[in-house]
Amino acid sequence: MTDSHENCQHNPETSLQNLLDKNRQWAERIAELDPGFFPRLAAQHKPEYLWIGCSDSRVPANEICGLLPGEIFVHRNIANIVLQSDFNCVSVIQFAVDVLKVKHIIVTGHYGCAGVYAAHEEQRIGLADHWIAHVRAVFSRHEDLLMAEPVHLERERMLVELNVIEQVVNVCRLPVMQDAWNRGQDVTVHGWIYGLQDGRLRDLGLCVRERRRTDELRREAVTAWMAKRTRESSLAA
Ligand SMILES: [Zn+2]
Repeated sequence: MTDSHENCQHNPETSLQNLLDKNRQWAERIAELDPGFFPRLAAQHKPEYLWIGCSDSRVPANEICGLLPGEIFVHRNIANIVLQSDFNCVSVIQFAVDVLKVKHIIVTGHYGCAGVYAAHEEQRIGLADHWIAHVRAVFSRHEDLLMAEPVHLERERMLVELNVIEQVVNVCRLPVMQDAWNRGQDVTVHGWIYGLQDGRLRDLGLCVRERRRTDELRREAVTAWMAKRTRESSLAA
């Protein structure tokens, strides 16, 4: 059903006045604390970080890293997937690296991810199944490792982590990254996981700052990740 703009504004059920009010309060609060904040931001865009994360509304990059507007460039999609054929994601990475000259690219997955859950359970959603198939491909690639884990929930958490590793590998294999490293640009790719239960970020220990062979990088990353898991589970025991 369509509605006139005026009706929409005066109908409490369709109006988003509460969001507009909150925005005004937020902008006033920031301007009061730092009157130069918005003019400074408007004049320059120079973030040091690119965040590639899930669209999940519980994982907002700025808030969970305690960063202000202007400090982090963001790309989000379901299950934080990086594809060579996705011009949206690849354009964001190219702009971030070539124009903004970010120093760090952080791929962040999260436990309890609906996209990863759907891939793990082979659940049908609809059109999004085509997208989630890329997480399913991560499952297939690491099926032996994953199926060796008997606890269902733990296997899903492993898939969240392996998906981040695979997406870090996908970032590193992009021509834009290879070119940047070839010319000696200082840019590092990281893999993190966010916990919805405790609000904490975990570093997977992946840190790529130079051109690498894709298969070699994947092998090393997965081996290091497994060693870290074994270490942590023996500490927890
Ligand atoms: Zn998610």
